[in-house]
Amino acid sequence: MSARAGIVVTGTEVLTGRISDRNGPWLSDRLLELGIELAHITITGDRPEDMEAQLRFMAEQGVDLVITSGGLGPTADDMTVEVVARFAGRPLVLDEALEQRIADILRGLMQRFRHWDFDAVRAANRKQALVPEGAHVINPVGTAPGVVVPGKPTVVVLPGPPRELQGMWEEAVSTPAFQEATAGRTDYEQDTLLLFGLPESGMAETLRVAEREIDGFDRLEITTCLRRGEVEVVTRREPGEGEAAYASLVELIRSRHPRELFSEDGSRVDDQVAALLAGRRIATAESCTAGLMAARLTERPGSSGYVAGGVVAYGNEAKSGLLGVGPALIERHGAVSPEVAEAMALGALERFGADTAVAITGIAGPGGGSKEKPVGTVSFCVSTTDRGSLARDILLPGGRADVRERSTTVAMHLLRRLLRGEEEGIL
Ligand code: ATP
Ligand code: MG
Repeated sequence: MSARAGIVVTGTEVLTGRISDRNGPWLSDRLLELGIELAHITITGDRPEDMEAQLRFMAEQGVDLVITSGGLGPTADDMTVEVVARFAGRPLVLDEALEQRIADILRGLMQRFRHWDFDAVRAANRKQALVPEGAHVINPVGTAPGVVVPGKPTVVVLPGPPRELQGMWEEAVSTPAFQEATAGRTDYEQDTLLLFGLPESGMAETLRVAEREIDGFDRLEITTCLRRGEVEVVTRREPGEGEAAYASLVELIRSRHPRELFSEDGSRVDDQVAALLAGRRIATAESCTAGLMAARLTERPGSSGYVAGGVVAYGNEAKSGLLGVGPALIERHGAVSPEVAEAMALGALERFGADTAVAITGIAGPGGGSKEKPVGTVSFCVSTTDRGSLARDILLPGGRADVRERSTTVAMHLLRRLLRGEEEGIL
């Protein structure tokens, strides 16, 4: 059986939703990579009784490992180490070497804040040098050290700020207590397929066929989810098991959804487009997406090599003045129309001296819609100087944020298709 773990996220600010949890999902990914099965993620406030109840719950579930995040600061409401010590039945002891290390860090930090009283700050931080007896101390990335407390379950205590937690993870994993607690883990093989333009129900139907037709299908643990308008199919299997079944599954999906399947190795469309743009110059012309397409195109390393720039044009004057869209054209077809999208793309090509341009004009916000063109109406045009153009008019569901995000995804896929030469230019 595989090693099992639970995550206890602490912090009243997370519990109340003022801050959304970034540590649970991050740790979940890491556990998956390590082949450790994650049983539960729970969120609790800062009350020690509640936190302890969560630790007891995890222990009752029989997990081998519990990871906590948050509550390691110097202030009185940060009590995680104390609670974990009590839970593990280990007294807190002062680690003098650790106290010295924290003092050194503080001295360095405080050189920038001369008016602070070093001794007072140091006293407050002495608390952070109290560790459960027999625990392994994890070096702080900020000022809060973490601990790994051996036991059944072994408890890994990490600070709340994601940057600190992430920076301390490797060391926590390398401790003997962590390794012992997770010795029974299985390194699963995991593969990801991505499809675009297929409703999730379409994939569900394909998986039903797979279940009927593929030998050894039950060795595959398949999860599908819809993300940014793309269907993600993640398959896990034990090493050596189900390899032939997985190959048949890929073959089946390829044959049923040849146009929609765009990634067999988990690579994202953004990465594929980045690779296709090597040696090119792209410009963006956007209205309803407010520059999000430019933001997405510039997320990849090296993007300054191929992104020339972009225009965000809301008003008709901006579309005319900055992108050369004829006022008469806007008058005749409306600002959200395939004709205007095409003119915006051509304008961006010219304005930036680019060879590739993407234009998005649509209605994302409430109040902007009409009977003929409701909210979610978006026109796209991808244009190149050497491969023609590709255009689409789509009605996207959801509110402003959904329409914006889905629009940039559609534009990415249009770019991909045109640059791969998969479609004839249709303009
Ligand atoms: P500090 O010494 O900063 O107090 P800490 O270990 O006590 O560290 P918390 O007090 O729980 O951590 O959280 C400090 C800050 O870290 C929070 O205000 C929040 O900004 C961020 N943070 C904590 N937990 C999370 C989380 N699960 N997801 C995202 N951010 C978090
Ligand atoms: Mg704190």
